[in-house]
Amino acid sequence: MKIGVLALQGAFAKHLKMLESFKVKACEVRTEKDLEALDGLIIPGGESTTMLRLMKDENLFEPLKEFIKYHPTFGTCAGAILLAKEVKNPPQVSLEAMNITIERNSYGRQINSFTKEVSVAVLGSNPLELVFIRAPGISKVGQEVEVIATCQNRPVLVKEGKYLAATFHPELTEDTRVHKLFLTMIGY
Ligand code: GLN
Repeated sequence: MKIGVLALQGAFAKHLKMLESFKVKACEVRTEKDLEALDGLIIPGGESTTMLRLMKDENLFEPLKEFIKYHPTFGTCAGAILLAKEVKNPPQVSLEAMNITIERNSYGRQINSFTKEVSVAVLGSNPLELVFIRAPGISKVGQEVEVIATCQNRPVLVKEGKYLAATFHPELTEDTRVHKLFLTMIGY
């Protein structure tokens, strides 16, 4: 099994490290060719507008959209924004994979980052630490979307078929459970 991590910009290195700690083959994705022979993809946090611009510069937007149609994909923070079918604050194009509406910088610009602990039934009894950095907020989910974790009454980890999206940064903690959840979705 081989998983790609979109490496145009943002927090991709920590995702690669986490995958390598599971002894999963992982590689950086920067071009269309890098998508060949991958079983899944992680889109990291960063700046979704910058990532979109770089995707267009590299002619990667359409190939990524096509790849995601058929492969498990996990988006964290800006990655979740790119997977959402509808983006607000302000509206922005996306890869339109998940039936969710997401609002960028939804905790206000003055709150750059914060952490919270929540309990997540499917992840067992230990609380999960959530690291939010200029985080988006999921304001609407379609019927087929499973809300796995919430924080302050808002969905923060959601799954829809082969897609997983987190509005926080699981790669920035030592806790590997969210990545493991994604790997089980690929059949690892
Ligand atoms: N605020 C960023 C955006 O709108 C997301 C922040 C992040 O990925 N940590 O793209």
